[in-house]
Amino acid sequence: MRIEKILNKFTIKGIDYSPRTGGKAAMTIEEQIGAVGLCWKVSPAGWLLLFVEVLNDEVAKRQLIQVMLGEANRMMQNWRGTYPDKALLALANTAIAESSQLFGAICPECNGSGKTTNKHRMTRNCPACKDGRVAWTNETRFAHFAQVLPVPYSRFNRYKPILEELGQWLSDGRTAALLAIERQSFAA
Ligand SMILES: [Zn+2]
Repeated sequence: MRIEKILNKFTIKGIDYSPRTGGKAAMTIEEQIGAVGLCWKVSPAGWLLLFVEVLNDEVAKRQLIQVMLGEANRMMQNWRGTYPDKALLALANTAIAESSQLFGAICPECNGSGKTTNKHRMTRNCPACKDGRVAWTNETRFAHFAQVLPVPYSRFNRYKPILEELGQWLSDGRTAALLAIERQSFAA
């Protein structure tokens, strides 16, 4: 809620970056951040994550995945053993999912409503979540990871330290971006 308010304040949402006619290049997300006087370099990953989280922005999502793949690759440098490229994508996707939905993933059984209908058409609290959200645990992280790389749970646990490091790196970036907005908002 607070983030939405902050982003709206700087009208990031209102900036049109879709391809324009007349040969003029579209504004990149980096340019949009710059256009409202914020510093992109604070954390490109953090800015992109906010665009994904608050605006559900597809362009930002694609860019963020690329950034995260690079970072995951860097973190895997000292990892012992082999791994497929898909592991990097699984790591990136899971870290993004968690960092952009800090209070839990939207429940796939009730689509986030927290209510389901039983066979007598009675409305009941959804048995799969709490208020429409599924909290992040090692189990739910695995469920997410396995959508890209369906390895056994024991194998997932080998990747877990990297996933934690990657998630931390991304949420630090998110915090840095939010602090930059707050600082500017304070100065304004
Ligand atoms: Zn549910």
